[in-house]
Amino acid sequence: MKRATSTASSPGSRVWRNWSGTATATPARWCRPGSEAEISAAVKDAASAGLQVRALGSGHSFTAIAATAGVALDLSGWTGITAADTRTGLVTARSGTTLRALNAELGGLGLAMANLGDIDAQTLAGALSTGTHGTGARLGGLATQVESLELVLADGSAATCSASSRPELFAAARIGLGALGVITAVTLRCVPSFTLLADERPMPVEEVLEQFDALAAANDHFEFYWFPYGRKALVKRNNRLAPEEPAGSAAAASAPAMPRWRRFWEFEVMENAAFGTLCRIGRARPRLIPALNRFSSAALSTRTYTDMSHRVFVTPRRVRFAESEYAVPRESVGHVIAELRRVVPRLPDPVMFPVEVRVAAADDIWLSTAYGRESAYVAIHQYAGLPYQDWFDRFESVVAEVAGRPHWGKLHSLDAERLGPLYPRFDEFRRVRAEVDPEARFGNSYLARVLG
Ligand SMILES: Cc1cc2nc3c(=O)[nH]c(=O)nc-3n(C[C@H](O)[C@H](O)[C@H](O)COP(=O)(O)OP(=O)(O)OC[C@H]3O[C@@H](n4cnc5c(N)ncnc54)[C@H](O)[C@@H]3O)c2cc1C
Repeated sequence: MKRATSTASSPGSRVWRNWSGTATATPARWCRPGSEAEISAAVKDAASAGLQVRALGSGHSFTAIAATAGVALDLSGWTGITAADTRTGLVTARSGTTLRALNAELGGLGLAMANLGDIDAQTLAGALSTGTHGTGARLGGLATQVESLELVLADGSAATCSASSRPELFAAARIGLGALGVITAVTLRCVPSFTLLADERPMPVEEVLEQFDALAAANDHFEFYWFPYGRKALVKRNNRLAPEEPAGSAAAASAPAMPRWRRFWEFEVMENAAFGTLCRIGRARPRLIPALNRFSSAALSTRTYTDMSHRVFVTPRRVRFAESEYAVPRESVGHVIAELRRVVPRLPDPVMFPVEVRVAAADDIWLSTAYGRESAYVAIHQYAGLPYQDWFDRFESVVAEVAGRPHWGKLHSLDAERLGPLYPRFDEFRRVRAEVDPEARFGNSYLARVLG
């Protein structure tokens, strides 16, 4: 999966475009720093020119959160692990490192991130800044794995924050929306490498909802995908093997590691090429979409395998789509899915993609979508090029009834007035922002909307 594209022509007309094609921008300047001093100089130069600054990640947010008409800081040359203590698991990496590169480097050290989302194309700082999460009722999102952060602030100075040093900046900046400064380095608390036993099987959606709490409690990482016109959900249960039971051991023999050819067949051919073909047929003939969706649901099959954690968490996503996702109180997930089942048949434009449901533990990060509550994440998608606004609007009305909080990197229409009451520490976040960036040097139009 590539970083977001940029197309260069004459100076000042190089366009930035996100992965899903839902946001574009034409920065006045591009800068690709290779040191902290160069990052600081870029911020100071922007201030002298009266320009705003955005650090770019991989462009995998669906919102325009990374877009800027000012200075685009391309951090693709600011990568790699700079320190690692395999005894404590503390690892420091430069902020532009992609999760893919990080996972590979960590694997070489015998370490891993405790939890991950569905893909690994994001940069470390980009993933953290929007509250990227995976699934697991006893685990928080990626930002809960952060031990400390180093930033360049709006005046060009360097700052370090952790639970004991500038704790307010730390509570805000772990999921800071890029609004507080340029993160230059992240220290993560990693865990020893571990193997996951993956079990994926279809189940009637009613049964999944009846057993939702038990499934979330009984599995390290539980999630399900529901095709909106089908009756079945694909339930994914990923559980950690004890260190003495690595992939290929006798204990894991019932679910051996997936051979390379089968991995290619399952993930590249079936989940990307074949599904992409169905999506293209649906886009050409939208009236066929409910039947294609039912076919996808009926074709779900069982598979079990073991592999290193990141090779189970992460799969390739080559079929492009638009997405919205809300965190809702865990106990309301049944209500939300029931409402969506009512909404789908009445949509003017049918939905090709499944709904994904995950879980996360409560945390204490100010702008975390799981702040102070056990959460379920409900994500809806639509294939690129098909209309999605009506579906996304109705979804928002449903999750609004249960105080849903939108993922900062996925499509939503909420503004500061509606977001404020959803986040008990919203005003404290804005106060810290006003202290460290009084002129909104790191602002853009998305932040003006969501932070006011
Ligand atoms: C196919 C796909 C699958 C996805 N799967 C998941 C998933 O499983 N779970 C989930 O929660 N999300 C998921 N997402 C959303 C994605 O994780 C987030 O949108 C994430 O922020 C993207 O990271 P990025 O590096 O592309 O950052 P960008 O989108 O480029 O930027 C995001 C924000 O980070 C800021 N930023 C970047 N670098 C820095 C820095 N050094 N300092 C300060 N701010 C910085 C940017 O300015 C911007 O505000 C998925 C997205 C896609 C397209």
